[in-house]
Amino acid sequence: MPELPEVETYVRELAPELAGRQVLGARVNWSRTIATPDAEHFPGLIAGQRFVTFGRRGKYMLLGLASGMTLIVHLRMTGHLRVEAGDAVIDQHTHVVMPLDDGRLLLFQDSRKFGRIWLVPDAEVVLARLGPEPLEDSFTVDGFGLRLNGRSASIKTLLLDQSIVAGVGNIYADEALFRAGILPARAAGTLEAGEVAALHAAIRAVLEEGIAKAGSSLGKSGLQNYVRPGGELGGFQDEFKVFRRTGLPCPVCGTPVERIVLGQRSTHFCPVCQR
Ligand SMILES: [Zn+2]
Repeated sequence: MPELPEVETYVRELAPELAGRQVLGARVNWSRTIATPDAEHFPGLIAGQRFVTFGRRGKYMLLGLASGMTLIVHLRMTGHLRVEAGDAVIDQHTHVVMPLDDGRLLLFQDSRKFGRIWLVPDAEVVLARLGPEPLEDSFTVDGFGLRLNGRSASIKTLLLDQSIVAGVGNIYADEALFRAGILPARAAGTLEAGEVAALHAAIRAVLEEGIAKAGSSLGKSGLQNYVRPGGELGGFQDEFKVFRRTGLPCPVCGTPVERIVLGQRSTHFCPVCQR
């Protein structure tokens, strides 16, 4: 699933394509893709809107419109948002087609159909439950420690809870825990102050490296869950230390990487380097 670095890459690479462009209308082929308002009212409301600002909150893309409204896109498992030529093939996975004023099409494609789009006057209504943004000053070691304090749930599970810290998913949680030397199954409340600080730093480091590599593209060729808006692959999958490396040697100590399931999510770790 696209996580913070992948969504950030989307926003950065779509911004020059969409800045100043006006949406002429929309065709919705799978109604559940539109979370707000609904598939019936979305085309009329998006028609005439012009893109002016580009941002991100957690794993949500925030496309600001000249009207003051925001088009919010969550890619979930397999969503893709891309700008294509006006004669692009509209396949069975293309759920929303938005013609632009320059003759091109803004397409939302999603084979698993979990992705969602909101068009709202106030983005906070959608984003209210999100925790701090990990690369901003609002994500502090002290605040992070307070949110983990007394919690019996595993630290891995809490890293995936978007109300603790926004934007971290399975890939970057496993990689951050490895770098911090913390076993993913540890009860979050048992982390000592030094471990909380190490994990805070590791979360920032892996996310920043993920952004620098334009995200992680997983899966078979042509079937990646994430590719950049222009179709290129990200590069951070080549930097993984433990994620999806079960049985391969830990890059630090050589012990085979192990896999367990926590909160129904595959979790990868080194049983020697992580405590
Ligand atoms: Zn190791």
